[in-house]
Amino acid sequence: MVTKGPITLGIDIGGTKLKAIALSPHNEILKELSLPSQADQGPDFVRKAVQEAVHIFQDAGIKFTGIGIGCAGSVDHHAGIVRNSPNFAHWSNVPLRDWIQGDFKVPVAVENDAKCAVYSEWKVGAGKGCKNLVLLTLGTGIGGGLILDGRLFRGATGTAGELGHLSIHTQGIPCPCGNQGCFERYCSATAVKNQAKGVSPKDVFSKASIVPEYKKIIEEFIFNFQVALVGIANTFDPEIILLGGAVTDGLSIYLDKISEHVKSHAFPAVGANLSIKTTQFKNLSGSLGAALLVKEYL
Ligand SMILES: [Zn+2]
Repeated sequence: MVTKGPITLGIDIGGTKLKAIALSPHNEILKELSLPSQADQGPDFVRKAVQEAVHIFQDAGIKFTGIGIGCAGSVDHHAGIVRNSPNFAHWSNVPLRDWIQGDFKVPVAVENDAKCAVYSEWKVGAGKGCKNLVLLTLGTGIGGGLILDGRLFRGATGTAGELGHLSIHTQGIPCPCGNQGCFERYCSATAVKNQAKGVSPKDVFSKASIVPEYKKIIEEFIFNFQVALVGIANTFDPEIILLGGAVTDGLSIYLDKISEHVKSHAFPAVGANLSIKTTQFKNLSGSLGAALLVKEYL
């Protein structure tokens, strides 16, 4: 393939999987892959997983000029440091940018994974043209990304948008972030799996109509989900709330019902202007956003 301009790599490090893409100058995905992220083993193992992914692109003859990395957790994007990540083991102030820049000698940008996801959906996906957009990724945990007044919103420390850690039960389930009752303790893949004694969220959602125990889990999931979404809608007044991540597939048949509830329980002006949709790029939103974001650094 003949290309002009930069090819960039986008790498999305989640609690379980690492997803990566190579992006053409015209924003076409040239190649994609998925590997275990090894986030439960510690930062050195995550670094090895990133190296392995990049080597696969190099072996395929892809010449890239930058690497964007999206990582779950609190990210200092100026310093390229992932401070901590509640669902990652042994993680404290990891200089991911310097590590990977040292490994491959190209510019590297590090950003929170959900911020990457909202960035791609805003630039080229389901939120294109919006000025105010909220994205939630429902996976191992729940990530959040915000486009407010037409720009990626990071907050004072870069941690804004950690909507999975919005507490919805004051005396609720303890969370690794240090708080309790966090939204993600009730509406993530991990939460469903824990309640269903190890059964996968996919099976819990697909068998909810025939297994009463699963039906109850899903009903509670939706109740908690709606509580959080009404709060999020009233806080940010977005035009669209986008839902991505593995749990979204199972949730999609309930989306109309959820949307109706949220729109009727939010402030009238907020509800009337709001739509709730799934992401366009699904599990590639994060890696695509990382590959797009690093172009700003080239
Ligand atoms: Zn939390």
